[in-house]
Order: sequence, then C-alpha cells, then structure tokens
Amino acid sequence: MDNDPGITRAALGKVYLVGAGPGDPELLTVKALRLLAHADVILHDDLVPAEILALAGPQASIASVGKRYGAHGATQSEINARMIESARQGLAVVRLKGGDPGIFGRLAEEIDALDAAAVPFEVVPGITAGIAAAASLGVSLTDRRKATRIVVITNHQAGAKPGAESTDWRGLIRDDSTLLIYMPGRDFATLRAELLAAGCATDTPAAIVSRASASDQCYRFTNVGELDKLPRMDSPAVLLVGASLARAQRRAKTGVNAALALDEAELILSSL
Ligand code: SAH
Repeated sequence: MDNDPGITRAALGKVYLVGAGPGDPELLTVKALRLLAHADVILHDDLVPAEILALAGPQASIASVGKRYGAHGATQSEINARMIESARQGLAVVRLKGGDPGIFGRLAEEIDALDAAAVPFEVVPGITAGIAAAASLGVSLTDRRKATRIVVITNHQAGAKPGAESTDWRGLIRDDSTLLIYMPGRDFATLRAELLAAGCATDTPAAIVSRASASDQCYRFTNVGELDKLPRMDSPAVLLVGASLARAQRRAKTGVNAALALDEAELILSSL
C-alpha cells in the first residue's frame, strides 16, 4: 500500500470524501473503487449498500456513521472528529456517502471541519440519485427542444419539524425545467397542491423512482395532477417532474423498451 502512487502516505494522512453512487456497485467510479481497496479507515453512511462495502481491502476498518435512523447514528461533530483523528494518525480515510457527496450530503460541514483542522482532503464525485433515476427510466434530463434547466431540490417537508417552512417553489416551476426532488416525503397531496399553486400544469409528467439502480429498483409514472394517488414507495426514493419525462412515460405505457421494474417485467412476461 505504501507503494500505491495514488494514496497519500505521510505523517499526516488524508481524507477522501467519496461518492459511492446510487447503489449499483457498477456505478462506482474507478477512483472510488481504488480508494476503497486501499483505505485504512472507511466511514460510511447508511445509504451505502453491503455490496459496495465488500469492495474494501482487508486492512480497512469500516464503521457506519449513518444518521438516518436518528439517535443511533454518529453526530456530525463525532464524524468530523473521527475523520480528523484518523488523518492525524497518518491514515488514509475514506468518508463514503451515497450518490454524490456534494448533493444533500453535508459535505460542506465536513470540508469546513477539515479545513479548520488543516487536514488535507480530496472530493471524489459520485453519480447522484436523480441522475441515476433518469438514466434507468431512459430519460434525458435536458432536451434542447423542451428542457433547458435542471432543478435539484429537496422537499423540505420530508421529516420536517412542526412549523418548519415548506419548499418555496416560486421561480422554479417553468415548462422547460426538470425537477429532481430528493427526500420527497410521503405527503404527495401537499406536494401536488404546492406544485399546482406555483404554476405547474396538471399534465406535467412525473415519476417516482425508489432505490434507483439497485436490483430492487421500482418506479411509477404519473402526472402532477395525480401525484396524490401515487402508491407508497420504499425509501430512498427520488421524484422527477418535467416535460423531459414525456417520452419515457409513453414508452412505459407501451412496454416497448420500457425501463421495467422486475416485478412489472415478470407480470408482462407471464401474461404473454
Ligand atoms: N448524496 C445523495 C443524496 C443524499 S440525500 C445523492 O447524491 O444521491 C438522501 C436522498 O437521496 C434520499 O432521501 C432520496 O431522495 C435520494 N436517494 C439516494 N439514493 C437513492 C436511490 N438509490 N434511489 C432513489 N433516491 C435516492
């Protein structure tokens, strides 16, 4: 490992803030794969699946620092402290996050802490959930004929504390925007009302994609006017909205080249 030219081996170690992609190990970057194989310490979020952690080298000490299930996870300052402490021991630390580390991944806080502690770091991008979801549906997020903007946003109501502000959609809703809504929550009736109030047309296509890229991925197409009728989907799930989805929505209806969830594919096959 000392001979690996890509890994810093010095008195002061280094922290690699790495995107693990949406779940499918094949969507890891080559760089992420190499860092996993050589890291001394891996601190990962809950979103990172076991198949990806299995790619770590035998020397790696692997710890989950996920916050998803509340009280059991490490706090942000504990995570920062662990990264800094390990780097100060001269270790190569991989801080592994689902998707891309810089998209709703609290990367900024970790960078602040590493900067303040003068610990060297490097950010390694990953494929974010919204991009993976679009790819799996066969959707081009931009289309120079009708989709010239991509809006990446969270729906603040998801898990919001009482009294927390809801998402401000003003200015975001345009016919030529594709919305990638992370943490869409479960209250699609409210989301529908907000999108319509912000000027979204009822027939704007929408799709929810659960566990994008994983073997148990599933999705449903709908339109904004019928968002409230969407069935409950397993998390993590991302909601895509926009005219750019229209072709994929039609394709899903005809079944030709459809990006089918496995159960739907089996249903069709068994009815043939
Ligand atoms: N950094 C991550 C996002 C973390 S926020 C990324 O770039 O993808 C967590 C949210 O991301 C989830 O609530 C969900 O909305 C979305 N998400 C993460 N992985 C997903 C997946 N495989 N499929 C669908 N949505 C996913």
